[in-house]
Amino acid sequence: MQPLSNQTLMAIAQQYGTPVYVYHAEKIKAQYQHLTRAFVATNTHFFYACKALTNINILKYIGNLGCNIDCSSINEVMLALHAGIPASRILYTSNGITFEEIEEAVQQGVHINIDSISNLEKFGKKYGNACPVGIRLRPNIMAGGNLKISTGHDKSKFGIPVEQITEVLHVIEQHNLIIKGLHIHTGSEIKDVSVFVEGITVLFDLIPKFNHLSYIDLGGGFKVPYKENEEGTDIELLAREVKQAFSSHPNPNGKPLEVWFEPGKYLVSEAGYFITEVNVVKPTSATTFVSVNSGFNHLIRPMFYDAYHRIQNISNSNGKHLHYSVVGNICETDTFAWNRLLNETMEGDLLVFYNAGAYGFEMSSNFNSRFKPAEVLLLNGETHLIRKREDMQDLLKNQIAVL
Ligand SMILES: *Cc1c(COP(=O)(O)O)cnc(C)c1O
Repeated sequence: MQPLSNQTLMAIAQQYGTPVYVYHAEKIKAQYQHLTRAFVATNTHFFYACKALTNINILKYIGNLGCNIDCSSINEVMLALHAGIPASRILYTSNGITFEEIEEAVQQGVHINIDSISNLEKFGKKYGNACPVGIRLRPNIMAGGNLKISTGHDKSKFGIPVEQITEVLHVIEQHNLIIKGLHIHTGSEIKDVSVFVEGITVLFDLIPKFNHLSYIDLGGGFKVPYKENEEGTDIELLAREVKQAFSSHPNPNGKPLEVWFEPGKYLVSEAGYFITEVNVVKPTSATTFVSVNSGFNHLIRPMFYDAYHRIQNISNSNGKHLHYSVVGNICETDTFAWNRLLNETMEGDLLVFYNAGAYGFEMSSNFNSRFKPAEVLLLNGETHLIRKREDMQDLLKNQIAVL
């Protein structure tokens, strides 16, 4: 699918102002269909890891495609329910949360993956075998684009370390718990398919120890291309490997195992565009700075993860190429790109950041008391404002004047 044209993006900027996040619905659909087609031969279910982008319209759209929803907090569970997703299609993969939050999730009737022995014990005491549950394990595998987005290695806080399996089994036996699924999520931006296979291998060793399993949840983390000519995870290859692994390891209890995945970035990243406007062009001896009307308060990935986002000057897309450093207007160093080739850029030009759908708006903040951007959905060729740009009311609404 072609990316949105400069004309379309410029028209949206004109109509809704900048900075603005734009999401192309049909691209999300194409990504989802790519997954379902690739995995058609395996009993696979997808749960959109919605922490990537939780606008309720996105949740609804993805839900209507037939995709389930994976949540990282009880509030995400409530948002998914609010968006009309039935509880039976919502999964709460918890980490480091209070037992009260788990109780709330049980009350809402959603699937839960528990990630600590402590909460598993509390769960056992309260629910026993009345509420089948999944457990999140830490497979001690190093994977992902960089350490900050790796979650399955042997120093990671996520999941119950596999070496504690004896203790886990003890808790299960003591409370008669029904474990319906095993979950691992090793990180984000995993290009190497063999990492998933390695994870499956760790789980296959454990499967015979559980009598009631119905799913194996392999998490998310499929890589999407951010740079020009970069490749993402080979989804077809992954599907073949997963199929082969599962057909050579039938579930000992006879019941065919479902394979669950939790793609976040894969579904929404490339559907997202972040449009900013150039405030200032500042030539210096080191570089020519281009300051846009945004900063890490709106798109934190470059500063937080050293992430690369492709940037284009859509106001002068035939201009000659020059080097610029694209920065924000925040009172902190907030470099989006250093010495990047852009078409000749002037104040007032529109710069677009590509692949901005995942962890873009969702990680935005009000630092420097700036407003969060608007969000626009492009669906069937029509644009819809799906979140207003903030205003002074939003900055003041929870403050209590006592002086
Ligand atoms: C963040 C997360 C995902 C999604 O990761 P992506 O890299 O966006 O695909 C999936 N599962 C869990 C448990 C997560 O925390």
